[in-house]
Amino acid sequence: MTRVSPPILESALAGERLSSEDAVTLLRDGDLLEVGAAANEIRNRKNDPEAASYIIDRNINYTNVCIYRCKFCAFYRPDGADDAYVLSWDQIGEKIRETIDLGGTGVLLQGGVHAKLPFSFYEEMFRFIKKNFPSIHLHALSAPEVYFLQKLTKQPMRDVIARLRDAGLQSIPGGGAEILEDSVRREIWSLTKAPVEKWVDVHESAHALGMRTTATMMFGVGETIEQRVVHMQVVRDLQDRTGGFTAWIPWTFQEENTALDGQVRLAGGHEYLKTLAVSRLFFDNIRHVQGSWVTQGPKIGQTSLAFGADDLGSIMIEENVVAAAGARNHMDQAGMERIISEAGYRPVQRRTLYDACQDPCCTGPLPVPRVPFADSPELPSMPASRDIDDGIATA
Ligand code: SF4
Repeated sequence: MTRVSPPILESALAGERLSSEDAVTLLRDGDLLEVGAAANEIRNRKNDPEAASYIIDRNINYTNVCIYRCKFCAFYRPDGADDAYVLSWDQIGEKIRETIDLGGTGVLLQGGVHAKLPFSFYEEMFRFIKKNFPSIHLHALSAPEVYFLQKLTKQPMRDVIARLRDAGLQSIPGGGAEILEDSVRREIWSLTKAPVEKWVDVHESAHALGMRTTATMMFGVGETIEQRVVHMQVVRDLQDRTGGFTAWIPWTFQEENTALDGQVRLAGGHEYLKTLAVSRLFFDNIRHVQGSWVTQGPKIGQTSLAFGADDLGSIMIEENVVAAAGARNHMDQAGMERIISEAGYRPVQRRTLYDACQDPCCTGPLPVPRVPFADSPELPSMPASRDIDDGIATA
């Protein structure tokens, strides 16, 4: 094998931007340890070389009902299925209370895309959370959910996100990205829920409103290396325009119980670490890169800190989506601190917007809700799930 890494890595370490072709070359032919060492060097220039961060938060899935049937998903249920649910406000409140008791600072709130929930459902849910748990950071929805609400309301994307922000939404996770290349999205049945253009529109609109979001990539769904790099280029271009991404979070597809089970070649630990490292080099404009212990397990998660990651994400008090697809790794705060310490770093608990990081990329102004929660009128109680499911969605 020709050793292609050194010239490309030397220019990356000299501060030159990697081209898409460079990234493809490194992913295809680069030496894992050489690429990893360069990524580690860049990680340590962009972040405290002695520290690695994590967050205590909880994934709350307010519903598992979804109108889509993404081939990689084991979580969705059709409306009316025996195990379909929509959480009540009380159930959401209880989960947040438990999160706070465990030292948690935020929730990542996502659903399926439930066609019968009206826009007011989301506003009321966010207001309920921010009124009762004002210290909790609300990192919620995903581009496909927001795009669906835009179609529902027929309002401009920016206005839809502004309404959600005014109800309490503080930032948007990068979910629903999978591979940002439309022929792949068509293949895995995620084109309809949000083509690349719409995923970008949601994030760009949020950034224009002063909100921060994250960028994810779920790889190993049958895409080529070139298509993976197209995804990275879409995200880097958007970050050049807005600077609104706090972090880049690549993770690997989990196949159990999905329509893709046995249909694609899964990405293993070697491919995960190499993709992580190449992306650390490629994203010269994103400060933080998150390692995925949830899909790769704690051992590779720990190792990711030497391959470009400066953060291990959440201890995941609750996670349902990748667990449904077979990733059932668990971690408590002591376990997270232990794996970070064993890897030679000082564990630092951060909040959702990387506020252990004091640099402008992570500490820009956040939107302030127009209606102070303390003065909000009493919220209506949560309707029963049956009432919601029987209702017709309206704007
Ligand atoms: S990935 Fe999301 S949008 Fe796709 S089927 Fe699953 S819940 Fe629905």
